[in-house]
Amino acid sequence: MNHAIIEILSVLKETHHHQRLERLSSLYEQIEDETGRFKDEYSIGCGPGCGTCCEHFNPDITALEASLVAAHLLVDGEKRHLIDRLYTEGVDGGPCPLYDKGSPYHCTVYAVRPLICRLFGAASSADKNGRAIFRRCKYNREETMPLSLTFDRPVPLMQHYSYALRSLDEGRVDILSVQVRQLVEELQFLISLIEGSAFNDDDSPLAS
Ligand code: SF4
Repeated sequence: MNHAIIEILSVLKETHHHQRLERLSSLYEQIEDETGRFKDEYSIGCGPGCGTCCEHFNPDITALEASLVAAHLLVDGEKRHLIDRLYTEGVDGGPCPLYDKGSPYHCTVYAVRPLICRLFGAASSADKNGRAIFRRCKYNREETMPLSLTFDRPVPLMQHYSYALRSLDEGRVDILSVQVRQLVEELQFLISLIEGSAFNDDDSPLAS
């Protein structure tokens, strides 16, 4: 479990969010392990410093995924300024409002990034006959991943992880900016209560 998630779980430990976020974190860990081995075995990798996919989409995510991202933005003081971007960027599609072109790592919430961001260019998908197939990302101009692979053995499948995620969270799915905005609004008051007046240094009323 990475440091950002440990911190979130510690802040939310007495709340009903804790167990659900712990399960989501376990699924993300499983995905990291399995896709990591898959990429190593088949020499699949993104081009150096590439973040082009994030420039072209605002991912669809579940409310549970959004609650992890929202908690990260609220708990990590250095990330709070990113909340404003959810209201002004990514409203009509890409780029993702949490993408930072100027940073070498690009994703400002990498430790808590949603499922699709973990799978894009890192897992196979099932074709119409149910066969696992991997295709090179269309933005991979450096050709650092194979053009196409098919498999006759079990390999990480996007659909499989998607079902696993939906078994944890049957709620609504919407674009990242809308979902995270809403979850920030829901979690802000709770986290501010837990952390005392950490977000309210001047004792002014808390934003609702
Ligand atoms: S959350 Fe991060 S990885 Fe996912 S689209 Fe946004 S910037 Fe890219």
